[in-house]
Amino acid sequence: MASRILRVLIIGAHPDDADITCGGLALKYTALGHVVKFLSCTNGDTGHHEIGGVELARRRYDESQASAKIAGIVEYEVLDNHCGELEPTVANRRVIIRIIREFKPDIIITHRPNDYHPDHRYTSQLVQDAAYIITVPNMVSLTDIMPHSPWIFYMYDKFQKPYPFIPDMVVAIDDVIEKKVDMIHCHESQMYEWLPFNQGILDQVPAAEASRRQWVADWRLPFFEKIADQYRDKLIELYGKEKGKVVRYAEAYEVCEYGADISPEELGEAFPFGGI
Ligand SMILES: [Zn+2]
Repeated sequence: MASRILRVLIIGAHPDDADITCGGLALKYTALGHVVKFLSCTNGDTGHHEIGGVELARRRYDESQASAKIAGIVEYEVLDNHCGELEPTVANRRVIIRIIREFKPDIIITHRPNDYHPDHRYTSQLVQDAAYIITVPNMVSLTDIMPHSPWIFYMYDKFQKPYPFIPDMVVAIDDVIEKKVDMIHCHESQMYEWLPFNQGILDQVPAAEASRRQWVADWRLPFFEKIADQYRDKLIELYGKEKGKVVRYAEAYEVCEYGADISPEELGEAFPFGGI
């Protein structure tokens, strides 16, 4: 078990973003006894081609809770905002401030502000808008302030404009990759219905439960292989030549400058998985 218990809040826009993008990291934290919470800023109720509204929101909520169980996180909170309509309003900012203050994270991870999906962009905006205000007593005054800002990181994305993702930390996730696939497999409405429909590959989805898990692994794992290959130099820098060269799957994180300043030593404390 870790000597210092970290509290980690991963804030995504939809009830699968934290799992898909940061699931490996979450599993590595919980394996060491750190405390992880996922927050989805919307209920995901537009992510389907045949169902929607209350039926989809509740189905996706159940999927998120099943994934949370595998991850070993303390909570997967889902805010009841319509998917596709999240706005960076003061009202939503107040909710995010309250949730951050109540959880008291050492680390927050969220989307970058430039991203294809408006909900991702505005989730990032809400976290950035809360980043300083969480220390200001005259905002959301009935909730105790954070004594200091947490470290804030962005999760990986592939977008290049106006500037590309620059990794400050690349985490090898080979040891938890099967469990991460199990987490992704929980999101049936997305992995086997909506996303294949949206991408025109619905006819490729196997009907049998056992084949589906293998299918989703074959579909999704190359994405994490690509991150490892793309940032191979960083992996070698962090893990050493021998280990860095053979890492197969990775997740990457970038420091958000609106969080607390972080030194190279503190970066090692924030990602305490050996190799730095
Ligand atoms: Zn999303």
